[in-house]
Amino acid sequence: PFDVLVVGGGPAGAAAAVYSARKGIRTGVLAERFGGQVLDTMSIENLISVPHTEGPKLARALETHVREYDVEIMNGQQAARLDAVKDGFRVTLASGASLTAASVILSTGARWRRMGVPGEQEYMNKGVAFCPHCDGPLFKGKRIAVIGGGNSGVEAAIDLAGLVAHVTLIEFDKHLRADEVLQRKLKSLKNVTILTNARTTEVKGDGKRVTGLAYENRTNGEIVDLPLEGIFVQIGLVPNTEWLKGTLTLSPRGEVVTDTHGATSLPGVFAAGDCTTAPYKQIVIAMGEGARASLAAFDHLIRLPVA
Ligand code: FAD
Repeated sequence: PFDVLVVGGGPAGAAAAVYSARKGIRTGVLAERFGGQVLDTMSIENLISVPHTEGPKLARALETHVREYDVEIMNGQQAARLDAVKDGFRVTLASGASLTAASVILSTGARWRRMGVPGEQEYMNKGVAFCPHCDGPLFKGKRIAVIGGGNSGVEAAIDLAGLVAHVTLIEFDKHLRADEVLQRKLKSLKNVTILTNARTTEVKGDGKRVTGLAYENRTNGEIVDLPLEGIFVQIGLVPNTEWLKGTLTLSPRGEVVTDTHGATSLPGVFAAGDCTTAPYKQIVIAMGEGARASLAAFDHLIRLPVA
């Protein structure tokens, strides 16, 4: 059995594994795809002390760092169940195999909900973006659209309006769903257009980059072309926690509820990064959280009764 089993191999999981292994305890990392969301990123410019890197390069660096230590990496494996057992926990894999550990760190991350329209996948990182804090500065002086009129969409539109030339906010529904104060702020900005009752139907490009989008005006069925350089999709970030339902406390959005130490509602199980209720989903934050959850797990282990 492991002392610490980390489930998830993104920035949070890698940091947790390094911190655990450095305590000289038996550490394993189970990951469906080691590297996590970082693998889907091209340009990363906000990992402090690394002015510029690329996703696949950072993913390799995470793995290299973990492999400096005696950590068992189980890549390409999906966790399907977590159970409390005598002396700790059992994680059952989708393959049917199972692993046991005295403590578990959950770092299964999240995924951005996609629009599912033609061109979206093709122009990912070529004008289609998800994270305003990450990619906003790449669109300085350009025209962009934000898809989604909930809190994250409206926050993104307000944030980006300060950087880009023009923002069009596109909401499917008749009304924006964001908090009233955010809507008021958005409406006060000169370089923002708000479209409601609008369904994005296509991302357009020239083969290299986004050149615009098409949307349907849902009041009359008309298809309208909107020329622009960037599209921020803000229709939801879904935590990869479906397999934990009923095992520990999840927020209404499905995030693992954690305290200031990364502890979950199940003593001995900790969580870090995008799969948790901790706010602001970023690489540098996920890494810090992974380190903290790992130290908290170690504190838990040294307090276990002597066998
Ligand atoms: P993730 O990176 O999501 O990793 C989750 C890990 O868990 C993966 O290894 C996954 O395979 C694994 N996993 C999931 N479910 C299971 C399961 N059931 N069993 C086993 N393993 C499982 N942030 C920045 O700071 N700067 C940027 O420039 C930036 N750009 C981004 C660009 C894009 C396109 C995207 C999508 C995100 C970007 N982000 C950026 C956000 C950043 O990638 C995340 O905040 C960060 O990766 C979160 O780390 P994490 O370890 O919590 O989760």
